[in-house]
Amino acid sequence: MKILVVEDEPKTGEYLKQGLIEAGFVVDLARDGIDGLHLGETGEYDLAILDVMLPKLDGWHVLAGLRRAGRDIPVLFLTARDQVEDRVKGLELGADDYLVKPFAFAELLARVRTLLRRGGRAKEADLLRAADLELDLPRRRVTRGGQRIDLTAKEFALLELLLRRRGEVLPRSLIASQVWDMNFDSDTNVIEVAVRRLRAKMDDAFEPKLIRTVRGMGYVLEDDAG
Ligand code: CA
Repeated sequence: MKILVVEDEPKTGEYLKQGLIEAGFVVDLARDGIDGLHLGETGEYDLAILDVMLPKLDGWHVLAGLRRAGRDIPVLFLTARDQVEDRVKGLELGADDYLVKPFAFAELLARVRTLLRRGGRAKEADLLRAADLELDLPRRRVTRGGQRIDLTAKEFALLELLLRRRGEVLPRSLIASQVWDMNFDSDTNVIEVAVRRLRAKMDDAFEPKLIRTVRGMGYVLEDDAG
């Protein structure tokens, strides 16, 4: 795990760098905002720790620059002033956490680990699961019991919707608007047909059955139906 630290006070900067290295991280230390932003834009970091008051470019501008460059890493701010305006401004700019100086290193380390874990969880949210069914969003891939299942784009979208709102009975009208971007037309059996095809691929040959029809209401995906 690689951390970018931008801190102009030499003592604090070294203290942070040393402590984080001892905790097992790889650390780059920049002493002003311009250098910090340059490193952040060009390097691959898992997290950034930014002092607010920095020479050349303050912490807010470094954060804004990182976000503009598409760097979506968690950012922990160090601020000497425990002021509401600072916090609000930082949150609006997309800061993830704050620490008011002076702070104990143990506290900083705890915040860093929490932010990194949160980042890890965000990646896991790319995977939607129910029983042994797994839907991998970035790869557009579905498996059940480890077996690859080929779905059409609409079937994939339908399954994604059911998984995201599992346990909830989804009316056909809602499915129509979310997956087909159309208003419900009582004459159409598009949804019924799509659900049947989807089940044939990911439910019929497996146990437990995950998609259930709720008569007169719609469909629900449940993995605890017993
Ligand atoms: Ca400073």
